[in-house]
Amino acid sequence: MTEQAIETRCIHGNVTEKNQNENRAVSFPIYQTATFSHITPGHNESGFDYTRESNPTRSRTEEIVASLESADQAIAFSSGMAAISACMELFSPQDNIICSQDLYGGVVRLHNIISRKNGLDISYVDTSNIENIEKAVTPRTRAIYIETPGNPMMCVTDIRLCSRIAKRFGALLIVDNTFLSPYFQNPLKLGADIVIHSGSKFLSGHNDTIAGFVCTNNKEIGEKLRLISKTTGAALSPFDSWLVMRGIKTLSVRMERQQENARKIAEWLLSQKEIATVYYPGLDSKLPEGQMSGTGSMISFETESEAAALAILKNVKLITFAESLGGTETLITYPMVQTHADVPEEVRERIGINARLLRLSVGLENADDIISDLKAALRGKLST
Ligand SMILES: *Cc1c(COP(=O)(O)O)cnc(C)c1O
Repeated sequence: MTEQAIETRCIHGNVTEKNQNENRAVSFPIYQTATFSHITPGHNESGFDYTRESNPTRSRTEEIVASLESADQAIAFSSGMAAISACMELFSPQDNIICSQDLYGGVVRLHNIISRKNGLDISYVDTSNIENIEKAVTPRTRAIYIETPGNPMMCVTDIRLCSRIAKRFGALLIVDNTFLSPYFQNPLKLGADIVIHSGSKFLSGHNDTIAGFVCTNNKEIGEKLRLISKTTGAALSPFDSWLVMRGIKTLSVRMERQQENARKIAEWLLSQKEIATVYYPGLDSKLPEGQMSGTGSMISFETESEAAALAILKNVKLITFAESLGGTETLITYPMVQTHADVPEEVRERIGINARLLRLSVGLENADDIISDLKAALRGKLST
């Protein structure tokens, strides 16, 4: 059977046979159980033993996520950070990992307080210029770890070129695909070895759950990660698995509409005198060919003054001043003090994460209402 379109896979996964689940429930059941019974010693009749290791609801969600990334397998974790931490367990002391400098702040913190203690050597470069990666490679480089578009500066890195370098040096290419979701970008098809998702964002899509996924086509890596998950125990609960599964059903329509809203808002921001710079991949004319089928709904922008940024944060009413992204509600974030507080100040300044930078995750409200809210907030006075 040929692969069905992604809209179909969001709802059904890869359909290879008629829905056979018990009682023929249309919505997949939540198997809220810690353990599974056995009949014969040494046999595992249901295929399930204990929910830390595997659970039918989690397995179904993993199948669907794997189908979206065209992966042989996906492993569900209790958060995006748990998924990333598990990937770091693939490496040994003295291994070097080259990371995008435009990286989720939580990953920088993970490296600062855990990876370094474990002896990993982490280097940060601007991966949007591929030469920087080539220059940073050492004989101990075991992985290139990128986010594209990056967070929060939206730098786009060429996945195919990274994959070529990784292969040449025998390193793994790991791509955090949270910002575009599998709907707009499939890094495994472009040569990545591992794809990571924070399922808390676009996949679940409703700002109501925390989850993470690792997807791969490499059998050996997949088996290692399953063993790490079973051993360290940060697996996704049955109920949260179900919430992600339900959220994914509408992924395609949400991604399209959120992107449409983001385009309108990015263009409006460009025309405002109080806004100095708008960072949105959809405004960039030279994106790597064939890499992404959309530019998503994340926008960062720099205001003319710190006072203007603070006025927006203080005065927005419809838009919520909160961390996170990818959900139905439009959220605005102050990266310098929220998501990227753990990035050293000199690095923040160099990258452009300053007191004037705001990040917007555009939701599903009417775009004109979001614009009106931003307009009123900008014109509103900052009372001190
Ligand atoms: C949120 C996020 C993470 C971490 O995921 P959690 O589910 O919050 O643990 C990792 N990478 C990116 C790009 C994110 O946005």
